[in-house]
Amino acid sequence: MANSRPLTNVQQRDVNAILHPYTPLHKLQENGPLVMGHGKGVYLYDTQGKEYIEGMSGLWCAGLGFGDEEMIEAATEQMRTLPYYHLFGGKGMEPAIELAEKLKEIAPVPISKVFYTSSGSEANDTQVKLAWYYNNALGRPKKKKIISRVKAYHGVTIMAASLTGLPYNHMGWDLPVEGILHTDCPHYYRFGQEGESEAEFVARLATSLRDMIEREGPETIAAFIAEPVMGAGGVLVPPASYFSAIEPILREHDIMIIADEVINGFGRTGNWWGSQSVGMTPTTISAAKQLTAAYSPLGAVLVPEDIYQAYVDHSAQIGTFGHGFTYGGHPVGCALGVKAIEIYQRRNIVDYVRGLTPLFEARLAKVKDHPLVGEVRNCGLMGAVELVADKATKRPFNPAHAVGPALARFLEGHGAVLRAVGDSIAFCPPMIITEDELNELFNRFELALADTEAYVS
Ligand code: PLP
Repeated sequence: MANSRPLTNVQQRDVNAILHPYTPLHKLQENGPLVMGHGKGVYLYDTQGKEYIEGMSGLWCAGLGFGDEEMIEAATEQMRTLPYYHLFGGKGMEPAIELAEKLKEIAPVPISKVFYTSSGSEANDTQVKLAWYYNNALGRPKKKKIISRVKAYHGVTIMAASLTGLPYNHMGWDLPVEGILHTDCPHYYRFGQEGESEAEFVARLATSLRDMIEREGPETIAAFIAEPVMGAGGVLVPPASYFSAIEPILREHDIMIIADEVINGFGRTGNWWGSQSVGMTPTTISAAKQLTAAYSPLGAVLVPEDIYQAYVDHSAQIGTFGHGFTYGGHPVGCALGVKAIEIYQRRNIVDYVRGLTPLFEARLAKVKDHPLVGEVRNCGLMGAVELVADKATKRPFNPAHAVGPALARFLEGHGAVLRAVGDSIAFCPPMIITEDELNELFNRFELALADTEAYVS
């Protein structure tokens, strides 16, 4: 689907100057980027003034939409008071303390300390380092491998990309690094076998995980990391019994459970945390994205008291706890985190998401019978529509035809933004979206679906 129109001036300046993340680089020169100018509420306007409904909260993060005056004020005030300081070498500042206290208060499991990063990738990278440090502290130097899952998304640093279980994060990058294992993806629609019930599917995955642990040796495995609901793998909601089936196996082998709540956290799934929506009981937690509603970059790792004490003991033996980022705990980010959580609490965002979910599900159900739609799925206000070439056999489209991306482009023409994850179209609208706006998003999606049907026929 080449764009026959010449690039605008701003598009040309963009392609001349920017190496775009997660973009088929060879196509960008041809089509040009969609350059956004400004945003208000759930609406974005490109530099030509065309309006779009933002259906993905940017990258699953702008949960309060754009232009929230309270957030702008919180950032401005913090910039005036103390625009930068850090937490290295025993320094501190009020916003970082206040946010850590808030996170401890709302965490789904007892948490003792918060370690700040600037992003979700850094949070997950930190999780791996902390798991290693912890096991060294306990005198278990061999217990270092991490189990992740096929189709997981945990970020792009060398370690986070290794944890990620998607081909584009490994192919061409010499990844994953050693010591990272990938167990099965709990997506029943795609990975359930012919005639296998969902319960049998879960039992098979649990057995496969146990086999992996026994094969590798539990004394070599430090942690298991999982998004409660997988995001960038295609919004994959695990069967209800999945975590209760696998967690006892992990605990039996003293393998810590890391919840990557980077997308799921702060109301997105209809609970404060995705863990609560899927029955997961983590040992430690990674958070980012809606932590500040994306008004500033910030990530966090939440750890319980016993694990923290092991760091203290180890630090007593070897000296400084040698880990930290220049911008980890940035005061403006932390002030925005405090304000975002205050807004979520005051506006009862969890109840609001729960209230909107039936409409979201009804609109997903409406497209389910479409001949191109194989499966629709959701947890709270994150969902996906998976496109297939053959509904009866679930046969996917040839990836070379890029049908999902084609739909996303048609949709831009109709004035809405969603993200194609392969041929799954992800929905993750700002949590403040109204019923009318959500209906309008789906109306525009249905137009794009009709365009896509004509495109593939
Ligand atoms: N973890 C999950 C579940 C994510 O979805 C993402 C980003 O989309 C990350 C980690 C990485 O976060 P960042 O892009 O802030 O590094």
